Amino acid sequence: MKKISLLGATGSIGTQTLDVIKSHPDKFTLEAISIGRNIDLGLKQINEYKPKLVSVQFKEDYDKLLKEIPKNTKLFYGNEGLEEVAANNDADILVNAVLGSVGLKPTLSAIQAGKTIAIANKETLVTAGHLVTAEANKFNVNLLPVDSEHSAIFQCLQGERLQEVDKLILTASGGSFRHLERSQLANVTVQDALNHPNWSMGAKITIDSATMMNKGLEVIEAYWLFGMPYEKIEVLLHQESIIHSMVEFIDGSVIAQLGTPDMRVPIQYALTYPNRLDLVGKKRLSLWEVGKLHFSKPSFDRYRCLGFAFEAGKSGGTVPTVLNAANEEAVSLFLNGTISFLEIEEAIEKALNWHQKISSPTLEEIQHIDKEVRTFVKKVMVK
Ligand code: NDP
Ligand code: MG
Repeated sequence: MKKISLLGATGSIGTQTLDVIKSHPDKFTLEAISIGRNIDLGLKQINEYKPKLVSVQFKEDYDKLLKEIPKNTKLFYGNEGLEEVAANNDADILVNAVLGSVGLKPTLSAIQAGKTIAIANKETLVTAGHLVTAEANKFNVNLLPVDSEHSAIFQCLQGERLQEVDKLILTASGGSFRHLERSQLANVTVQDALNHPNWSMGAKITIDSATMMNKGLEVIEAYWLFGMPYEKIEVLLHQESIIHSMVEFIDGSVIAQLGTPDMRVPIQYALTYPNRLDLVGKKRLSLWEVGKLHFSKPSFDRYRCLGFAFEAGKSGGTVPTVLNAANEEAVSLFLNGTISFLEIEEAIEKALNWHQKISSPTLEEIQHIDKEVRTFVKKVMVK
């Protein structure tokens, strides 16, 4: 029986993680969950899964929930609550499915407590990959990918030697606006952007897919998870999202992982690794139904965020921290209607130009820069 704690239980990855847990009651138990603001769904989850420990984002929701949850459930809130869910309980494995760099500190605490980390929260690896990977090495803790591309690469690498890898090939659907020219992007709406062709995901990552910042963040995520230099990481447009990613070896052999788009596959693989389990309700891949698979090279002029991410990754230090914080802030301004779609990349470019890089930042420096960049983006973008 594996004991699981889950940050971000009410989100897209969070609810799908709970589906996996529920379909194998003999394999998994849920120790602890964190909820953001969706208290109604959170309460349903508490009643159904009966975690021993729960955390909510805000004090007022803590006060409300305290009257409604079972007496023996421990309740926390805020950053301290995230830490409790991540580190201070009996779980063997933490699924980090919270959104954004707020996931960094609890991830480090979970590693220090010796927990295996199943990481969906890519912003944590982008903002401070050097701290997370160093801590995982120090405490001999596994960082298992949940992101579908990284799970694909991880699966392709089983039994292989990293030094025999020639390149990692991350596939990208191209997001909601893949059929549009750059000139057609000026007046696109939030609603249009939220309409992803292949995957159903949370709002922020759906916008990141439309700008291709998602793939940019994933390039940096791959750098940290697999220790591959940026020159050996490539992005390939593949509109069907059937090949989830590939690895090319030095002899020219390419291994790919395929499947219908369903995040429960990589979530479950991270929970059962190195074993596999059946997946209830999984639509199997019928390649004869798919018929054709398409591939093309992405242009950094069309998808400027992808270029920013490669540059930021290569530059290192605090530059990826700035890239991530500026993107988080800009996407949230786009989602609430304050800035336009193309202003997302403008905000990121401005923040990157403004920042003075620190080469090996500490946790405190990263947290400080993360805050400072968000303030900067609001200041220059909100008229
Ligand atoms: P969602 O927006 O659907 O869910 C985010 C979760 O985090 C919710 O439980 C939300 O709570 C909680 N949350 C958000 N902000 C805070 C905060 N400041 N403090 C505490 N809790 C917070 O996101 P996704 O599930 O789509 O994505 C989660 C992570 O997984 C992201 O890093 C994303 O890049 C990554 N990922 C997602 C994929 C997907 O298919 N969705 C695929 C691959 C990676 P509430 O809703 O209650 O407010
Ligand atoms: Mg992905």
